[in-house]
Amino acid sequence: MTAPVYLDHAATTPVRPEVVEVMLPFLTERFGNPSGVHHYAREAQRALDRARRDLAEVLGCRPADVVLTSGGTESVNAAVRGISLAQALAGVGRHVVTTAIEHHAVLHTCQYLEKFGFQVTYVPPDPEGLVLPDQVAAAVRQDTVLVSVMLANNEVGTILPVPEIVRAVRSRARALGRRIPVHTDAVQAPGLLPLSVDGLGVDALSLSAHKFGGPKGMGLLYLRKATPFLSQQTGGGQERQRRAGTENVAGAVGMATALRLAEAGRTAAVPRLTALRDRLIQGVLAAVPDARLNGHRRRRLANHASFSFAGVEGDRLIAQLDAAGIAASNGSACSSATWEPSHVLLALGLPLEWALGTVRFTLGPENTDADVDHVLAVLPRLVARLREHGGALPK
Ligand code: PLP
Repeated sequence: MTAPVYLDHAATTPVRPEVVEVMLPFLTERFGNPSGVHHYAREAQRALDRARRDLAEVLGCRPADVVLTSGGTESVNAAVRGISLAQALAGVGRHVVTTAIEHHAVLHTCQYLEKFGFQVTYVPPDPEGLVLPDQVAAAVRQDTVLVSVMLANNEVGTILPVPEIVRAVRSRARALGRRIPVHTDAVQAPGLLPLSVDGLGVDALSLSAHKFGGPKGMGLLYLRKATPFLSQQTGGGQERQRRAGTENVAGAVGMATALRLAEAGRTAAVPRLTALRDRLIQGVLAAVPDARLNGHRRRRLANHASFSFAGVEGDRLIAQLDAAGIAASNGSACSSATWEPSHVLLALGLPLEWALGTVRFTLGPENTDADVDHVLAVLPRLVARLREHGGALPK
């Protein structure tokens, strides 16, 4: 029996041992609430300040621009609602521009705003998941209050041209005599893409710690100075009135260490992961007939390979892979009883039959050539058997 192979890093990642180590004291003897005035509180506040400085350094921003949150979903909610509602209140408008391939954290928040009278334009991608800057800019109107475009797609791995999109939006906004905030959901990017907020040009950026070796339930929202924002969580004055609630000190300390390590390892990790990924892609496409790679051929995350197999039910294949010790996923949410076709794959124009036969492999720092070999040894056989038996595998 070979060791289990974890190939679902886009879903979540193992917490790094260094991260556990820096968090532990704040879960035990250093338990102070940073809002207090005594020794315990000051110790917690110092740790929080340091974590915020470290996070800001990776993003290339001011520590004051970093808002600590409970994860990617909260950061995205805060950005999309907080910026849109602040501007609606100020009478600027009620129109949001986003893409059809965003994570549900963005899409469902936009749909929520629509219930309150907002209009949302969902810019469609091309068949490889790219969204063109001119198309985004063309969707911007006089009453647009926010543009939200993800940095890299979690289901198919395509990297979107965010700096170019920001430039196109800025120039369109100037022509309208406006400055329109741009948010990016960068949850899939740490350790794989540069995160400089000035390099990207964005006004807001969302991250989630558990996607890069940090703890679950911890995230951040970068908010550029003077970006209109209405706090979505009200209560105490924490996070400069932008997110009420006692701070998760251990989580912040862990996220800061995880982000520093992910960024420090990025230039070495990217070529290593790219080589593993490309061997996996070439191996699968060579060995499995009627298989296709989803997403962009070149502009894709270094760790990401999403395949669709005609005539195969993706969830059955994932279960069979699991039984063979390989953890993969279909990359999209499922409802309790039936698998829904992914909104991303459908937006890319994939026929339903192919969309339902999708498996996503996402690599991480601990994966090796042997893991890729294992997939290449197992997957073609499983696909062939599922096709032959219509999903019902003989015992
Ligand atoms: N955005 C993207 C692109 C994601 O992939 C995810 C998680 O899968 C999220 C947002 C939500 O992040 P979290 O799990 O921290 O709520």
